[in-house]
Amino acid sequence: MLTLDFHPAGRHFLQIPGPSPVPDRILRAMSYPTIDHRGREFGALGRKVLADIKKIFKTEHPVIIYPASGTGAWEAALSNTLSPGDAVLMFETGHFATLWKKMAESLGLKPEFLGLPGIEGWRRGVQPDMIEARLREDTGHAIKAVCVVHNETSTGVTSNIAAVRRAIDAAGHPALLLVDSISGLGSADYRHDEWGVDVTVSGSQKGLMLPPGISFNAISPKAIAASKQAKLPRAFWGWDEIIESNKNGYWPYTPSTNLLYGLSEALDMILGEGLDNVFARHQRLAEATRRAVRAWGLEIQCADPAVYSPVLTGVMMPEGVDADAVRQRIYERFDMSLGQALGKMRGKMFRIGHLGDCNDLTLMATLAGCEMGLKISGVALAGSGVTAAMDYLASHTDTPVLKAAA
Ligand SMILES: *Cc1c(COP(=O)(O)O)cnc(C)c1O
Repeated sequence: MLTLDFHPAGRHFLQIPGPSPVPDRILRAMSYPTIDHRGREFGALGRKVLADIKKIFKTEHPVIIYPASGTGAWEAALSNTLSPGDAVLMFETGHFATLWKKMAESLGLKPEFLGLPGIEGWRRGVQPDMIEARLREDTGHAIKAVCVVHNETSTGVTSNIAAVRRAIDAAGHPALLLVDSISGLGSADYRHDEWGVDVTVSGSQKGLMLPPGISFNAISPKAIAASKQAKLPRAFWGWDEIIESNKNGYWPYTPSTNLLYGLSEALDMILGEGLDNVFARHQRLAEATRRAVRAWGLEIQCADPAVYSPVLTGVMMPEGVDADAVRQRIYERFDMSLGQALGKMRGKMFRIGHLGDCNDLTLMATLAGCEMGLKISGVALAGSGVTAAMDYLASHTDTPVLKAAA
């Protein structure tokens, strides 16, 4: 047993944009005894999760499940489809886009980073017209892949992936489309097949409400064809053997059995609520959060309402206020974790996660913790965000979520 020098009363509020709180139902499912991963019972579990996860990505094609964090699935997406020295076009939306680009460099690829100047790129989504213009210039088709982040977790911006697909098609360019939806999947609308995505990367600890530890590659037939020619070294990440074993519900190595129990439960929960209801619930909580931020008189990090994230909201601090000090005070006083600002935004904002297993009252407690924390930090607030959020939630009760529960 882990020995801590104290344990605060009540539940910790884990309001960072991943890992998100793990529902008791999932924790209980994960406590089943670990079974033989070559046995008949495991095969049934494997076949079930491999079939149901496709419904979340909205794909008819294989979804690879790795016993790894999201970062591993990033590497898998690149190393299965590309060759050393390949040019890839990436878009600077924030910290996670930047990390993925660094990884591409480490793997021996030649990433080109498009973006808006300064922190503008960290306040708006992917600009499909810039991608289209760059691809039109690439008449020799040197660019092998376009890589974008769907929900940029460092800023709270959800880019329009269908528009990126249209930009690639408008340029008549054959590049693969690789998308990081590590924090979008299961919270924000996502359509792997319909949007013509070749590889979607995702992870367990955000919208899927699981602990960290498994991650995903949803792959198109075009991506599988590319993997036959791709020359980057890969062993553990190689799709071929995994797809072969997965046909019967097994893996070529020992999979994360207990996380797969959890995944099975999470899929039952999400599909039981209905994906559209899940998305509507997130949109509603995100709108209530934004109303709170505006009522406080503070600025939302995302500067384009068309791409507001349903997963998290970035709250910018007034000049001279250290966002990390506010966060630290909230953590110490109210036992609530908020997301730290990353990279270019360090110290200038904090992130409120409202994803996964979150409802009206979870959100209200979260916003109350933020409001009290801002007050005791001496931040001058224009008004009560808590009241503004309550007013919105109480006057918007006609949601699919509540209807489904009636
Ligand atoms: C969380 C996250 C990652 C990193 O995933 P890990 O599981 O921490 O490796 C990458 N991209 C985005 C958009 C994320 O939200």
